[in-house]
Amino acid sequence: MTTAFFSHDDFMRHNMGPEHPESPERLAAIISYLADTGLDQKLDWVRPEEITRDQLLMVHPENYLHQLDLMQPTRGRVFTDPDTAMMPDTLRAARLAAGANVQAVDMVMSSQVTNAFVCARPPGHHAERAKSMGFCFYNNVALAAMRALTFHHLERVAIIDFDVHQGNGTVDIVSGDERILMCSSFQHPFYPHSHVHRQADNIVNIPIEANCSPEEYRKLVEAGWLKRLNDFKPQLVLISAGFDAHRLDPMAELNLDTEDYRWLTEMIVAVAHEHSNDRIISTLEGGYHLRALAESVNAHLEVLDSVY
Ligand SMILES: [Zn+2]
Repeated sequence: MTTAFFSHDDFMRHNMGPEHPESPERLAAIISYLADTGLDQKLDWVRPEEITRDQLLMVHPENYLHQLDLMQPTRGRVFTDPDTAMMPDTLRAARLAAGANVQAVDMVMSSQVTNAFVCARPPGHHAERAKSMGFCFYNNVALAAMRALTFHHLERVAIIDFDVHQGNGTVDIVSGDERILMCSSFQHPFYPHSHVHRQADNIVNIPIEANCSPEEYRKLVEAGWLKRLNDFKPQLVLISAGFDAHRLDPMAELNLDTEDYRWLTEMIVAVAHEHSNDRIISTLEGGYHLRALAESVNAHLEVLDSVY
């Protein structure tokens, strides 16, 4: 039993411009670092296929999908919000990223692999049911959750989102759905400035002040998440894995280090071991300092790969 690593060259073809932080170089940095550490040899590399329209419709309405199709240019770039651009290869990459998440659920649920990491872009957690924003088009983690609930008939799926930005899109989609428990930590007040106060019982928000120490962060997260997760007893754990709370990250003001991501992953692995038969699917969200991102993903994967 191994860790699946979902990767595809076409993730790199979505390119929002030379100045854009959500760049193809992010994936290149991760893959090259994994080659340096040798961890790439231990992973089960999977080339995903595109998600189907029917699968997208589990989360996003047809008129939204159609609107994105119409907006995608045949050349150049168009912006769907001030931060988010589409180009000719964007939706292909987005369908592959979402498809990888669905396929990862299928592989983990059928015990082909223990767990999986989807090393994809564009990311997903800012994509609301009918709104693309924050570099995101389709909500990858929500699509994974719906696949697990509908196709695999699970009753309880946990989503853990440790990206430094709140996963407003995921909250928009899963809020009030008692089959899903979403636990997240994020810098606050901060982008995306929405859905923070929209409280449903299944949403556990841990807002973190800028410049919070890693020790304090660990305490807040442990106190906020663990009991809820253990009471919920998830049958599958999904991670929106953003690494932009790293102290080197240029986009935010939290101070986590690579070892804090190792700690976070160990905590999540322990929850999955207790309740989910070790089943975890982690999907890449943010992380914009290339070296910090690569090191943190490597630490995250070392922990996932240590599960047997
Ligand atoms: Zn982020």
